[in-house]
Amino acid sequence: MHEGAESLSIAAPAKINLFLDVLGKRPDGYHDLRSLVVPVSLVDELKVEKTDGVIEAVCDGSELPEGHAGLVPGSADNLAVRAAQRLREATGHRGGVRIHIHKRIPVGGGMGGGSADAAAALVGVNALWGTGLAPADLMVLGAELGSDIPALVRGGAVCMEGRGERVTPIACRWPAGTEWWLLLVNPGFSVPTADVYRRFRTGLTSPDETFTNARFALERGAVTLAAASLHNALERVVFVKYPLLRVVAERLKAAGALGVLLSGSGASIFALAADRRHAEQMENEIGCDAGCPLWTRVAQVLPDGVMAAHGPLEARA
Ligand code: ATP
Repeated sequence: MHEGAESLSIAAPAKINLFLDVLGKRPDGYHDLRSLVVPVSLVDELKVEKTDGVIEAVCDGSELPEGHAGLVPGSADNLAVRAAQRLREATGHRGGVRIHIHKRIPVGGGMGGGSADAAAALVGVNALWGTGLAPADLMVLGAELGSDIPALVRGGAVCMEGRGERVTPIACRWPAGTEWWLLLVNPGFSVPTADVYRRFRTGLTSPDETFTNARFALERGAVTLAAASLHNALERVVFVKYPLLRVVAERLKAAGALGVLLSGSGASIFALAADRRHAEQMENEIGCDAGCPLWTRVAQVLPDGVMAAHGPLEARA
């Protein structure tokens, strides 16, 4: 479809975890997870263009929260670059790629920004180079680079298990016109994921009923049930270390959120709203008197599959 294109554009949506349970620690040091992951309408934009051989990233961080641009690794350590390198190793392709990344997803925010860029790079560069790997193959490569990447390569609402390598799509049959609006809030600082898991002590897992309800709510588009079934096993340990986040969560509840949860390992918090206006009202209400200026965005959940998550690839000859 994109044969001969010199460049392609691709969207990399952020994710939130509506449900995240940590089931135990594995012998390899990673944790076994069970999580419901959905993309949201806050996107990084990638443009991938062919080069003779070099693989590099150029980042524009002008739309990130203040201070975040400096946190995005320039090239060698950028996850999008590592994804393209891994794809080249796996396929023996000879060309290179320059990856322009227009970042909007807060860094170290539990919204999978780096993973989303890596997933979009795998999908976009595979199409640009014509290397022809199937989505399942891209997911296997992605799993080597980060736990959230297979889910984000698949796109849409998924259940993620193991350390992230087992991804089951959730068939969302939402009544026509159903939309889920939410407010994303980031305090401006990053939370290192590895540190959260180091502090985490496996205890009681959440009741199966909570997971079943959350999945059912996602399948049917029932936002009130979803809000009542939100769960994140990491939230307590993150709130203990960063009490400001608990204050933000309480303020969002007081502003009438249907449900409030830490996304992933933080530092972002999301608040489910009844509709767009409600999300905008909450945004006005939480203001900036929580102790530090807060970054906020009104966004929508994107429950559909790959094309909804990544957007159609736009080719340029
Ligand atoms: P995770 O839970 O996977 O750590 P996160 O959403 O909390 O994800 P990210 O925004 O993915 O956080 O950033 C985590 C780290 O990944 C950053 O500290 C940064 O150094 C590194 N990183 C590598 N590539 C990127 C990228 N393209 N965009 C953002 N961060 C990146």
